Amino acid sequence: MTAADRQKRLDELAQDIIEKEVCADLKAQATQLVMGEGNPSATIVFIGEAPGKNEDIQGIPFVGAAGKFLNVMLEQAGMERSDVYITNIVKYRPPNNRDPLPAEKAAFLPYLLRQLAIIQPKVVITLGRHSMEYFLPGAKIGDMHGEAVNVVIENHEFMVMPLYHPAAALYNGGLRQTLIDDFLKVPELVKTLSI
Ligand code: URA
Repeated sequence: MTAADRQKRLDELAQDIIEKEVCADLKAQATQLVMGEGNPSATIVFIGEAPGKNEDIQGIPFVGAAGKFLNVMLEQAGMERSDVYITNIVKYRPPNNRDPLPAEKAAFLPYLLRQLAIIQPKVVITLGRHSMEYFLPGAKIGDMHGEAVNVVIENHEFMVMPLYHPAAALYNGGLRQTLIDDFLKVPELVKTLSI
């Protein structure tokens, strides 16, 4: 499938989320759906938690302070935002940036899986424990950060590497360095997959 075909299918998926009124309460309070950004044929997909204030306004994931830190780490790891695809579990901003509720995460799960089925990444990087729980239920981020695990979902096999959330690490010196160190393992992982 060409990148243009994949983008078209991602646009249709976004339309489906809007029309099906997924998380109607969140939708009613949000400015817009924040579907994702980047290369629709990306090898690597990053999955955060939910849009914040800036993301809600701009319609693009990770454009606030955490996003700026993510951009720095991508650059240090030799990647550009346009090489990868960045999205969130929950695609509307929760009011006052509260944690997404279990029901909200569950409601968006089928759409996230459809999004991944369209992009077909080889590597999924979860940012924070909310998106890690999707792929590695019961795992503890303190034990699993920076470790790659093989996952098969609906005949699609990929590696999942959980990382700390950039917002959590931004102002916590120890966590910040851990996240930077883990981040540098991402290109190494891609190399081992000989993509
Ligand atoms: N935090 C997230 O998890 N996602 C965003 O898009 C921005 C901040």
